[in-house]
Amino acid sequence: MNPAAPSSEQADLSWSSAEPRQAEAILRTLLRAVEHSPVSIVITDAKGNIEYVNPKFEQVSGYSRAEATGKNPRMLKSGESPAGEYRELWATISAGETWRGEFHNRRKDGTLYWEQASISPVLDEQGRLLHYVAVKEDITERKAAADEIAHLAYYDTLSALPNRRLLLDRLHQALAASARNKRQGAVLFIDLDNFKILNDTRGHDTGDLLLAQVAQRLIACVREEDTVARLGGDEFVVMLCDLSENVGEAGAQAKAVGEKILDTLNKPYRLAGQEHLSTASIGVTLFKAPHKTVDELMKRADLAMYQAKAAGRNTLRFYDPQMQAVVSARASLEADLRQALRERQFLLHYQAQVIGRGKVTGAEALLRWQHPSRGIIYPLEFIPLAEETGLILQIGLWVLETACAQLAAWAARPETAQLTLAVNVSARQFHQADFVASVLAVLEASGANPQRLKLELTESLLLDDVDDTIAKMMLLKAGGVSFSLDDFGTGYSSLSYLKRLPLDQLKIDQSFVRDVFSDPNDATIARTIVALAQSMGLKVIAEGVETELQREFLASEGCHACQGYLFSRPLPIAGFEQLLTIAAAADPSGD
Ligand code: C2E
Ligand code: MG
Ligand code: MG
Repeated sequence: MNPAAPSSEQADLSWSSAEPRQAEAILRTLLRAVEHSPVSIVITDAKGNIEYVNPKFEQVSGYSRAEATGKNPRMLKSGESPAGEYRELWATISAGETWRGEFHNRRKDGTLYWEQASISPVLDEQGRLLHYVAVKEDITERKAAADEIAHLAYYDTLSALPNRRLLLDRLHQALAASARNKRQGAVLFIDLDNFKILNDTRGHDTGDLLLAQVAQRLIACVREEDTVARLGGDEFVVMLCDLSENVGEAGAQAKAVGEKILDTLNKPYRLAGQEHLSTASIGVTLFKAPHKTVDELMKRADLAMYQAKAAGRNTLRFYDPQMQAVVSARASLEADLRQALRERQFLLHYQAQVIGRGKVTGAEALLRWQHPSRGIIYPLEFIPLAEETGLILQIGLWVLETACAQLAAWAARPETAQLTLAVNVSARQFHQADFVASVLAVLEASGANPQRLKLELTESLLLDDVDDTIAKMMLLKAGGVSFSLDDFGTGYSSLSYLKRLPLDQLKIDQSFVRDVFSDPNDATIARTIVALAQSMGLKVIAEGVETELQREFLASEGCHACQGYLFSRPLPIAGFEQLLTIAAAADPSGD
């Protein structure tokens, strides 16, 4: 273009050299350009109120020029763009600079669209703000295409599940999360059994139908935060996060999900009008950062899956043979426990609680399991599992009923009428909404004197929900029941909590009693607990007292109540009652 001789069509667009007639031509040209622009153009005044919109804006937004004029562009806000975006926008243009970014806006008809915008302030020669001008392009389609591409890159088209790439991504994230929260996760590698036969006999289309249904069933088996992915062919992976910190428990959780999956996949399918049966083999490995890599995990789960195939298909195997043993043992223990409840294989042993040199004041009821083939099993071996599975509720109720029946029987004989009975209560049991009611009901039904019943609680149980705990304890105390804090000194109770709890007795944990002579710290702890109990007006008893020296030490510190092998082991009821008779004969005065 030659500025010296502009043609009428090609106006020189530089204002500085423009004469009035030329200026008019320039304006017309600019206006035509703006009016026919393929992008939306909005001009506002300095306050941000719209003064001009071009036809493209009307077309995209659905608002006419008349409707838009005088309004704030805010009217297009969909509420979907993050608030920070707007703050940044205003900060930029207020500083006199151009802002570029994307908006998620709403058309007049309510539909949403994406715009890429650049917004600049228009200043006069003195630098005063006159207008803002926004140039905006509708990028809704481009966005959708990009989303589609991303989806294709990360999802399997047949099943709509995450593909291997996304799975590996999530596994990396899950490992990072487990490093923070210390929880275990699990990878379940799932391979359909005999899928090839279906493909070969009924064609790939039918095979695809099965895969899509398997995908749906897998999703239904897991929580929303878990991942179900398809690796390709008939291979699927389920990733479970946030399992227990405890390996055995996490193994059991993974196994439970795996079994649910096997069960679900075993149900008949309808494929193109015909019924089809299918099974799967599952390999499982647990993971927890920082020990394993994603690669390693996939390999392990894959290996375990082959072991499941080798074991005859339609089954689940853990990568780690030890884990396999642990979960198998738990599973059979759980089955045995259920049977034990049905067949009444539990019994109570009674361990004497004494004061002074051996006057028996009562007993602690300790649970035993008379296993048909294994003999007597002690509570530490099965109470944790009973807690996890909820079986403790039925077991605990049985313990209470049996203990109260015993109290009622003792009440009928003068020589045993004064005996108290301490019963251990598990956390899960105590936190049941109807715990108070069930204890009161058992007392009522048995006719036992509530004053003779002492419930042993642990510190961790008490601290779980202190207000609820206090409320429950108060109600039971009002009914005459008393409370002893078991294993005291091993937990983390703060004194301020302890003060609020309506306890009657602290029970010094046996670990301090055991080492009272070998570890000066333990002697100090025992001494401190006695002093603490005295200052709070609580009784105190020591458990695990095995020697006369221990008893003497405790007595010298002011703890006269004891329980332990020194006096008696936990005994069946006949043995305990015999002990009472012997003790009474040895010391008819009862001292
Ligand atoms: P715990 O309530 O602290 O019971 C004391 C444990 O110490 C008992 O073990 C008892 O046999 C043992 N013991 C008693 N005297 C001595 C001693 O002089 N030396 C040594 N080394 N040990 C002694 P047990 O019977 O195996 O019970 C273990 C735990 O199982 C109990 O600890 C209690 O927490 C729980 N438990 C027992 N029975 C029940 C029950 O009916 N329900 C619930 N929820 N838990 C129970
Ligand atoms: Mg106890
Ligand atoms: Mg104890």
